[in-house]
Amino acid sequence: MPRALTIREDTDSPRRALPPRTEPMEAQLCGALLQTGKRRQGYSDAAIRSGPPSRLTPKPPGASLGRMPELPDVTVYVEALDRHATGRRLESMQVASPFLVRTFEPSWREAIGSNVVGFRRLGKRIVFELENDLFFVLHLMIAGRLRWKRAGVKLSPKTGLARFDFDTGTLVLTEAGSKRRASLHVVRGESALADHDPGGLDVLHCDLDAFRTRLRQGRHTLKRAFTDPTIFDGIGNAYSDEILHRAALSPLRRTDQLDDEATRILFDAARAVLEEWIDRTRREVGDGFPDKVTAFRKEMAAHGRFKEPCPRCGTPIQRIAYADRETNYCPACQTGGKLLADRVLSRLMKDDWPKTLDELEDRKRGGE
Ligand SMILES: [Zn+2]
Repeated sequence: MPRALTIREDTDSPRRALPPRTEPMEAQLCGALLQTGKRRQGYSDAAIRSGPPSRLTPKPPGASLGRMPELPDVTVYVEALDRHATGRRLESMQVASPFLVRTFEPSWREAIGSNVVGFRRLGKRIVFELENDLFFVLHLMIAGRLRWKRAGVKLSPKTGLARFDFDTGTLVLTEAGSKRRASLHVVRGESALADHDPGGLDVLHCDLDAFRTRLRQGRHTLKRAFTDPTIFDGIGNAYSDEILHRAALSPLRRTDQLDDEATRILFDAARAVLEEWIDRTRREVGDGFPDKVTAFRKEMAAHGRFKEPCPRCGTPIQRIAYADRETNYCPACQTGGKLLADRVLSRLMKDDWPKTLDELEDRKRGGE
C-alpha cells in the first residue's frame, strides 16, 4: 500500500483543500455559468446548500455535466428503452453531430426501416439490437443523455446529437458542454459486437471464487480495480466510491493485500450497492423514462459528497483528486483516520492510472 501522508493541520485550510491546478477549471466554469446568468445550474445539491461555488468547494471536473452512467443506471436505461421501443420500427433517424458515429461500415442509415429486436447493456454502453444482425453501441460518457419525447420533436442545435424516430415517440440523444465524447458504433453480427465488450467481470452474476480470482489477477489499488472496465463490469467512479465506503476499505488498498475476509466483505458490498441502486432507480423511473440517472445523487454515501458528513459516522467525507476525476472516502470508516493528500497520491497512483477518463473508457478486452 502506498504510504499515506497524515495531515496534521486543519483540513479546511484553503492551501490543503484546493490544489492550485484545479483553480482554472473552477474559475472557467464559474465564468461560463455567470455569463449565462445561471450561476448555480449544474451544481450538486450539496454545493447549492453550501452557497455559491467558492475556492473551498470545487466540484470534480465535469460535475456540472453530471456523472457517467454505470451499471445500475445503464440497466434502468435499457429497461426503459425496452418498454418504449422494443418491437417498434425505426422510421427515421437524424445524426446532427459529425463526432458521434465512430464507424463507417455498416452505415447507420441501414438501420432505418428496421424493427428494434431489443436493448442490452454492454459494460457502460447501451446496445440497440436491430433486425438483420445490426447493432448500435452507444456510450454516453459523462454528459450524454437520452430522453423520450413526442414523435417529431426537433433537435436542439446546441446539444442535440441524434434523433431516433418511432411511431410511438422520438428518442433524443443530447450532450451538454463543449466536449463531444459520447460515441455511437454501428456493427454487424454478435462477434463484431463482442469486440466492444471490455470483458470486466459482472459482480452481480458471479460467485465469490470468481470475484477473488479476478481481484487477484493484477496488483492494483482497489479504486483502480473497480473502475477498470476490463477488470469489473460496468462500475465507474461513482459506484466504486460507494462500494469501497460500504466495505469500509481504503481506495488505495492493493488488490493483492486483501485477505479472504476482506475479499468477502468487498464482494458482498459490491453486490449490495449495485442491487440497491438498481432498485432505487427503477422505483423512481416507474413506467417512465429515466431523466436523473446521470446526476449527482444526494443519497450516495461518499461519492460527490466532499465535506458532507459520512452517513455512518458523521466525519466529513474527503477526496483524492487525480487525473480528471476525484475519489471520495470517509477517513474514519475507510483509512483508519488518515487523510490522504491528493497531490502526493496523484504521483503515487500515476503508474496505476490511465491519464484520462477517455483512455480508461476506451480499454477493451485484452487490454491496450
Ligand atoms: Zn464514516
